[in-house]
Amino acid sequence: MTDSKSKSSNVVALKTAKKAEKCPICSKKTVERFAPFCSKRCSDLDLGKWLGEGYRIPSQEVAGFEESFEEED
Ligand SMILES: [Zn+2]
Repeated sequence: MTDSKSKSSNVVALKTAKKAEKCPICSKKTVERFAPFCSKRCSDLDLGKWLGEGYRIPSQEVAGFEESFEEED
């Protein structure tokens, strides 16, 4: 059973991704300023996920990301 591993992976990433790692949202290179994300865009997207699954940030900047995310749904 490795189900618990996938559930805790996000929390671990937030705490340990201070090195140059991949953005947990889009897997691009992490930018220190926005760590552990690559940009404010991904940071906002992650925040939206924590606020509630299905919540969409009303920003044209993330239009492309919304499309890719909806494919998972
Ligand atoms: Zn990203």
